[in-house]
Amino acid sequence: MPDIVLIGGGVIGLSIAYELATRGASVRVLDQGPFGQESSWAGAGMITPGNPLGAKSPETRLRAESFVLWPDWAARLREESGIDTGFSRCGGIELSPDRSASNIAAIAAQFQSEGVRAELIDSRELRTLEPNLTPEHGAGVHLPDYCQVRNPRLLKALLAACVTRGVEFSAGSPAIGFEHSSSRVTAVRSPTETISARQFVVCSGAWSQSVLAQVGCSIQVAPVRGQIVLLEALPLPTRRILEVGKRYIVPRADGRLLIGSTEEHVGFEKRNTAEAIAELIGFGGELIPSLKTARFERCWSGLRPGSPTGLPYLGRVPNSDNLFVAAGHFRAGLMLSPITAVLLRRLLMGETSNLTLSDLLLAP
Ligand SMILES: Cc1cc2nc3c(=O)[nH]c(=O)nc-3n(C[C@H](O)[C@H](O)[C@H](O)COP(=O)(O)OP(=O)(O)OC[C@H]3O[C@@H](n4cnc5c(N)ncnc54)[C@H](O)[C@@H]3O)c2cc1C
Repeated sequence: MPDIVLIGGGVIGLSIAYELATRGASVRVLDQGPFGQESSWAGAGMITPGNPLGAKSPETRLRAESFVLWPDWAARLREESGIDTGFSRCGGIELSPDRSASNIAAIAAQFQSEGVRAELIDSRELRTLEPNLTPEHGAGVHLPDYCQVRNPRLLKALLAACVTRGVEFSAGSPAIGFEHSSSRVTAVRSPTETISARQFVVCSGAWSQSVLAQVGCSIQVAPVRGQIVLLEALPLPTRRILEVGKRYIVPRADGRLLIGSTEEHVGFEKRNTAEAIAELIGFGGELIPSLKTARFERCWSGLRPGSPTGLPYLGRVPNSDNLFVAAGHFRAGLMLSPITAVLLRRLLMGETSNLTLSDLLLAP
């Protein structure tokens, strides 16, 4: 019998599994489909900088605590799996969607108040840093510490490192019910077996609400579709992440470039739509005119696990001794995966924390 069963093998489940396995726990991960092929695969891999010294709100603290874990996390995964996650400090620039100087100044001030390196740059400096950008953008915020990870590679590295550490995997095994004895969950049921364990974690992404409903726990996690486009643009017209409100361009070192993304409340529907893809390609071409002639490679979409606050539910399920949740990371699950793994490991292993993160544990 495993110590811990994780229900959902996206970046959150795999990161928790890896972290627990490094501490000697025996872990099994169930997924209703293949591992790491949902939102975690679909994402853009942006890792926004943070600084624990200046972070005050739950969002900035989670981001900051995760940000400082990333370099070591990526290095350990590379060492254990032999797979390079592509984690890199590529830098980034934020631009205002309405090109207003006050918006841009507010974004810079927010990052600076967190202790994150953020430099307000005028149009001349923007042109020097990014000569291929359309001249119409006035000013921006330069964030030299912005990072990225190649999320499909991250997922492969997590899977390989988990296998090496003895984690067991069951693909094509949806959790369809739980068994109880008073306030303890004793087993989770899939169509083919009943799996007993000491502790259980629901980390089923956009599906977490329905999984937890099986134990009468109500959380608000809903799918939010994000469509994304991949172009090949050689030579790359930018090496930095460019963000304009909810739209962005993420260049990859291999000459590819992502343009994302939409936020659509259309249920569990992953189709790409002509309108959204045209809009994203239009956005890319407006920001960097040379992209109009770049090679279109493909497009896809993913279902983000949306929560009412945009922050995840992390903690023990009320009225249960041994059922936990780590779900609802919305637009930030890749970025927040290391800190989520560390926090869940502490909770599950009953460890005390040298970080005062207890106010971040948002129990449903
Ligand atoms: C277009 C797009 C761009 C994004 N860009 C970024 C970004 O730049 N940076 C960032 O940090 N985040 C980004 N995100 C968000 C990020 O991808 C998510 O927050 C993150 O992947 C959530 O991880 P997860 O493991 O909770 O969910 P998922 O990856 O969706 O994994 C959940 C898993 O649970 C399984 N499951 C569901 N129900 C059951 C069941 N009953 N039994 C067993 N298994 C089950 C599913 O099959 C799935 O494999 C982006 C998302 C999208 C769609």
